[in-house]
Amino acid sequence: FFVAFEGGEGSGKTTQSRLLAIWLRDQGFDVVQTREPGSTKVGMRLRAILLDATHQGLSARSETLLYAADRAEHVEKVIRPALKRGSTVVTDRYVDSSLAYQGAGRALEPEEVAQINSWATGGLLPDLTVLIDVPPSVGLRRMASPADRIEAEPLEFHERVRREFRTLAAAAPERYLVVDGTLQQAEVSRLIQDRVREVLPD
Ligand code: C5P
Ligand code: MG
Repeated sequence: FFVAFEGGEGSGKTTQSRLLAIWLRDQGFDVVQTREPGSTKVGMRLRAILLDATHQGLSARSETLLYAADRAEHVEKVIRPALKRGSTVVTDRYVDSSLAYQGAGRALEPEEVAQINSWATGGLLPDLTVLIDVPPSVGLRRMASPADRIEAEPLEFHERVRREFRTLAAAAPERYLVVDGTLQQAEVSRLIQDRVREVLPD
């Protein structure tokens, strides 16, 4: 079983993916909790390049390909092997982040970004994607200091990202859970557990 968490900056994806992994382990599942970018040896180097604030001029196409390379490595080295062993995989970000940040955020052709990612992942899609939705003004305020290259983008950029995440979720409601990320942390995790309980294999 494969669950992805998506959402903008400061939405609480990292916290909620951890909480879900703990809850699943309590239910007796073997869980691999992971994140993008940067969950492999090469991925860590790609993450450093991607988030380096001195790389402001990085072209949108290079950015897309580097995220896709990180994801290809993540799928091949971490996600597929885990699923094959029968583990449940919980990832903090996946393909939708590229459709939202590189596609909508950087204004690249959405169909092209989708194709590159479908190739990079061999077409592997999550069984469930949890979108934690928060207005960017709220999310960015939660960041200690907007340190990395993307967090420093203007509010309009983050508004486009949010809109795209919501559009993707609305197009396939059977594969998505959209949670209001401005709710209390405990309430958010309860809503996530309720949905995961419904869709988990036993
Ligand atoms: O989730 P996390 O905050 O660790 O992600 C690192 C950064 O990478 C974030 O600022 C996020 O906006 C950015 N990102 C991106 N495109 C992706 C995935 C992440 O711009 N496809
Ligand atoms: Mg994070």
